Amino acid sequence: MSLRLFDTAARSLVDFEPLRPGKIGLYTCGPTVYNRVHIGNLRTFVWEDVMCRAFRSLGFDVTQVMNLTDIDDKTIRGAIAEGLPLRDFTDRHIATFFEDLKTLNVIPAAVYPRATDHVPEMVEIVKKLTERGHTYESDGSIWFRIASFPSYGKLSRVDLSSMKRGARVADDEYEKEDVRDFAVWKGAKEGEPESALWETELGKGRPGWHLECSAMSMKYLGETLDIHTGAVDNVFPHHENEVAQSEGATGKTFVRFWLHAEHLIVDGEKMAKSKGNFYTLPDVLARGFSPRAVRYLLLSVPYRQKLNFTFDALRGAVSALERLESLETRLGERAGAAGADGASEAFRGRVEEARRSVRAAWEDDLNSAASLGALFAFVKEANTALEGGQLDPADAAAARALLREVDGVLGVLAPAEDASLEAEVEAKIAARQDARKRRDFAASDAIRDELAARGILLEDTPQGVRWRRKS
Ligand code: AMP
Ligand code: ZN
Repeated sequence: MSLRLFDTAARSLVDFEPLRPGKIGLYTCGPTVYNRVHIGNLRTFVWEDVMCRAFRSLGFDVTQVMNLTDIDDKTIRGAIAEGLPLRDFTDRHIATFFEDLKTLNVIPAAVYPRATDHVPEMVEIVKKLTERGHTYESDGSIWFRIASFPSYGKLSRVDLSSMKRGARVADDEYEKEDVRDFAVWKGAKEGEPESALWETELGKGRPGWHLECSAMSMKYLGETLDIHTGAVDNVFPHHENEVAQSEGATGKTFVRFWLHAEHLIVDGEKMAKSKGNFYTLPDVLARGFSPRAVRYLLLSVPYRQKLNFTFDALRGAVSALERLESLETRLGERAGAAGADGASEAFRGRVEEARRSVRAAWEDDLNSAASLGALFAFVKEANTALEGGQLDPADAAAARALLREVDGVLGVLAPAEDASLEAEVEAKIAARQDARKRRDFAASDAIRDELAARGILLEDTPQGVRWRRKS
């Protein structure tokens, strides 16, 4: 099979080929840095990380660009409220954003351009749009005339029948009912801080939000992008307006594949700052959940389905992870054990089959749930084989290598233990066993507690003591 992706513009699965063989240019709309992101936003960012990792596992070389929206209506409001220059205000929220990505084991994008560092590029696009007859000036701002772009609406299929010619919308965000001409350059207004204004050929002012993404995506990835993503709320007006501006300026196709993720919801409603129904990552971690469990939950639902966030679902993610980790630990022990090394053909065949099923799931529109399904079918068989004493050390090593390989995309397992930690823990376990033999339970409990404090749990089993990291 080859890679198929669901393209929002086509409303169907389409075979994917990049523009340049083997290379993917991917633009992922980043956060508006006016407060800490919530786990709904993080669902989208984790999905994009899994997407990059999956493309790489399929052999593509991926360049991911994620912008930081550090100037728009919301960041300006926030900076004014806190009495800070815009950049100082957004710096803070950029720092916590990167912290959250790191905690969730997200591989950094190639670049994280900030809108405020790209105002000259935005001015150039406005000039081109003006040369090509797509803009007009009014109320001190420059507007995109959507009637000048006949295919306006082709991405979102928004209803244009109610569109009022010449009517304008000044806000960065607006609803479908407000299909209107939108601002590409907003003239300076009373009360706006100097730190949020630029003196340019277009006059003093600031860019419209949509223009920012047109400028940054084309600067880093060229005028035609392979893939552009965001969550479904970005389709209109943000992405529709990006298409109008970019294609209006270049005359070329802007994006070949549009991918949009469904929302994370709570009690049937989109998680959103404005609704107050949100959790940040620190909120969830404070309740004792590990970042890896959060990541697992976020990627466990296919991206085109809504993800209903509950703490029960998160507990489910904890147990699923424990199953994976416990298998990995036992496979590691078996792989290191002495014994016959006559790998079984049948088991190796199963490893290969599982590898193929996982790959097929990624090729099928990045289906993370199907890839987990294939993985857990394999986990079940590996557990049975282990418990039945049928796994040779070489089989166990092959199975463990498969888990690690699949986790290269999922990113949910604890990092492979380094040899020194393993040796140290084993030595402590031996000391604890000695203490127990001496019936010195205070000493043996102290060793167990010390390891627990470091996140290492001991389990007494008929085969001896096992250890694993707490998830
Ligand atoms: P914003 O900071 O509002 O620009 O949002 C950053 C990203 O998170 C955008 O791609 C949004 O579409 C996405 N997003 C916002 N709310 C949710 C949600 N509840 N679930 C998933 N993604 C979301
Ligand atoms: Zn964007």
